[in-house]
Amino acid sequence: MDLKDNIPEITTISIGRDKQNNIVLDNPHISRHHAQLTVCSPNSFIIEDCGSKRGTFIENAGTLMRVVRKLIDIQDKVWLADLEFSVADLLPKVKATSSEKLDIEKDPLDFTEEFAALQKVYEDYPILRKDCRNRDKMIRLWSVVGGSVIGVGSVATAGTFGVLAVLSSAGLSMLVPTLASHLLSTEEKLELIDKEYRQRYRCPNPNCRDSFGNREFELVAKQKKCTKCKAVWVK
Ligand SMILES: [Zn+2]
Repeated sequence: MDLKDNIPEITTISIGRDKQNNIVLDNPHISRHHAQLTVCSPNSFIIEDCGSKRGTFIENAGTLMRVVRKLIDIQDKVWLADLEFSVADLLPKVKATSSEKLDIEKDPLDFTEEFAALQKVYEDYPILRKDCRNRDKMIRLWSVVGGSVIGVGSVATAGTFGVLAVLSSAGLSMLVPTLASHLLSTEEKLELIDKEYRQRYRCPNPNCRDSFGNREFELVAKQKKCTKCKAVWVK
């Protein structure tokens, strides 16, 4: 049985001057096929230069460093030739597909759904760290969780933001297609799991984001509300 067929391809977003790219930057300094972004998670991306003439750069200790390939955060700055962006700036430039918006009206301090999803983040973390080197285990894990999580590869139908919104509501198991991919090294995978855990295991209120560190989920849940921002975690 060929289990790997169940693993969706991870999404890549091409950037360049050519009209065929997912993000078209009409600037003479930008190469026709300049760079590409691999969507590893809603917060983490790999930026890769596609042999561009003027290069791709990130900031490193206060100076610009030319990169071929680097794991970056959504807020990190990237220079394509001499044009500065963050990934957050670039994503809205992806050519619109179908339904790009998931707007749900709710009480602004009600974060019960988002908080409940953090239980999986807490539980998935040690499992993923332990098993990310073992592709067979990743494939088996995906066969269990995959049905409940939209594939990272389905940008074409859900739109970039639809996919990112759905992925944000899943635990860390949405990283499985990325962790099973040959496109990332083991070091990149471990770095990604740590980064994702630290970024996700926080007060879900975007205006607060107070970190839970290594505190057990059950203990945090007993608190029911955020002491900092008063967000409701458990009703
Ligand atoms: Zn809070």
